[in-house]
Amino acid sequence: MRIVLVGPPGAGKGTQAAFLAQNLSIPHISTGDLFRANISKQTELGKLAKSYMDKGELVPDEVTIAMAKDRMEQPDAVNGFLLDGFPRNVSQAEALDEMLQHEDMKLDGVLDLEVPETEVVKRIAGRRICRNDSAHVFHVSYKAPKQEGVCDVCGGELYQRDDDSEETVRKRLEVYHTQTEPIIDYYKAQGLVVTISALGKVEEVTGRAMEALKREDDAA
Ligand code: ADP
Ligand code: AMP
Repeated sequence: MRIVLVGPPGAGKGTQAAFLAQNLSIPHISTGDLFRANISKQTELGKLAKSYMDKGELVPDEVTIAMAKDRMEQPDAVNGFLLDGFPRNVSQAEALDEMLQHEDMKLDGVLDLEVPETEVVKRIAGRRICRNDSAHVFHVSYKAPKQEGVCDVCGGELYQRDDDSEETVRKRLEVYHTQTEPIIDYYKAQGLVVTISALGKVEEVTGRAMEALKREDDAA
């Protein structure tokens, strides 16, 4: 299956993607995680991306699309993938469509995670991620690690993302509404969108997501 996850920052896309990717046996591709891995390795791409991420702005399309394309072309993604944080504007969605058409492939569904802004703000304020791998995500009260400040998965140090500060979050939410939300209509026009509530326990949301994706798959 080829799936796009969409929703505001802090909706729980990364958290859900980890479970869904495992259940569906497809890789979880997060452009945010790919940028953060580049920042850790201090690559040129990482330095460029950081200058935008710290301001809560989108990294320019040209480099983002090239990075996402390169990842989607890896052997583990031939039978599908779960995209998290990409596409993030209509130009990226168009580039993805072109990329897929070129390979005679198409998206199977777009899962839209709906969460009120007040909840998103609480989720982001308590988010802690692992220095070794930003896909290892915790929350100080909703998903507390067994030992404070230590990743349950790999023992790495947990920290708060620089762009999870209150001011940057405000900017990221604005960018979401103005630039990312329009992709929902773009995909609605293709009949691909399923919207679910991302409120409730993580496993409840995963259950809703799996059911919604199964319906999409049956309908295809
Ligand atoms: P996104 O990838 O959409 O930015 P994350 O998956 O990183 O969001 O989740 C944001 C924060 O909210 C994390 O700290 C995560 O542990 C927490 N979280 C995710 N899903 C839930 C949920 N259903 N209930 C409570 N907290 C959640
Ligand atoms: P995320 O981890 O998805 O919250 O993304 C963190 C930041 O990385 C965003 O605020 C952007 O600055 C950048 N980013 C991630 N994905 C994209 C994308 N598809 N296009 C542009 N910038 C992105």
